[in-house]
Amino acid sequence: MRQYHVAVRSPFFILSILLGFFLTGCTTRPPKPPPPRLHMMKISSLAKQLGLKAWRDFAADILVLSGQRGTIVFNPRLRGIVVDDDVCFRGHRVVITDGRVSVPSGFVARCEERFGAAAPPEVRTKKPRERWHVVLDAGHGGRDPGAIGANGGYEKTVNLVVAQLVAAKLQHRGIGVTMTRPRDDFVELNQRAAIGNRVRADAFVSIHADAAENHSARGYTVFVAHTKYSDASRALLVCDEYNINLSKHNGGRSASRARRLEIIRSILAGSRARSRRLASLVRGELGKATDSPDRGTRLGPYRVLKRSVCPAVLVELGFMSNPEESRRLLRPAYREALASAIANGLILFLDGR
Ligand SMILES: [Zn+2]
Repeated sequence: MRQYHVAVRSPFFILSILLGFFLTGCTTRPPKPPPPRLHMMKISSLAKQLGLKAWRDFAADILVLSGQRGTIVFNPRLRGIVVDDDVCFRGHRVVITDGRVSVPSGFVARCEERFGAAAPPEVRTKKPRERWHVVLDAGHGGRDPGAIGANGGYEKTVNLVVAQLVAAKLQHRGIGVTMTRPRDDFVELNQRAAIGNRVRADAFVSIHADAAENHSARGYTVFVAHTKYSDASRALLVCDEYNINLSKHNGGRSASRARRLEIIRSILAGSRARSRRLASLVRGELGKATDSPDRGTRLGPYRVLKRSVCPAVLVELGFMSNPEESRRLLRPAYREALASAIANGLILFLDGR
């Protein structure tokens, strides 16, 4: 305490403070205007007004609002707000605190316009149906037959036939489709997800048929990416192959890798919620098409899901190892019904964006 008084009263101390002011010009420059006041909104009422559900990823410090109409991601490390797959409201500083989040003025109205018909200039317009693009991934293929059916059929063949039927139904409705393997070819797993990322698909659906040691197991299952894979680690896996035009979000300058990672991570946080939505819509349609049991939406360790940036699901149509279900999976009418269900689920999902 005594030493402190001595230091304050020292002439050198006072002189150095005056010199400091003089050199930095603090005495002559007018004070900086305060930063614009942030408009903070209660997260729960914001979600209610937009008809979306809110969830916080506390580990990543990200706030996601999602629902049938779309997904909004608030990431404090970004200047802007991610609406579906785009960085909108550029320059806006995201602050999340005490159940509140900062939003630009008129945010709710502008989102309403975005989710409805017309779109404000800064926010992307709703994609017309003919511009939708779906990637269909028939599991296994070539030297990898997948599960062998109780009656001798190959899983890879069931997957390919159903995927081709889904593709035809979507194309008939004007929706663009890319198949990861249009024929009986072997395609590496990472390559399958990369195809979806490169074409910037709106949805990725992998089609498989199950097998279990217990031959009485039956029913369909829809998987989404396991939560043990963080969005940050997934962003690292796909950053170099995911073609997002960041320069337009970055004042025309090319974005740093760190910034690309943050944006992809935000998109992944949103697409995780939308994958669940897609899964439940596909399950709902499968439930109408078959009396086979619904085994629910499950978390899967699948690479095609982990590495897909867009909403992605893996559908297990039924069990090849169950003699009765395996027989059904070989019947053209049953495959047709399953394919219609998947196509209808996808269309409901894309319509609700
Ligand atoms: Zn499989």
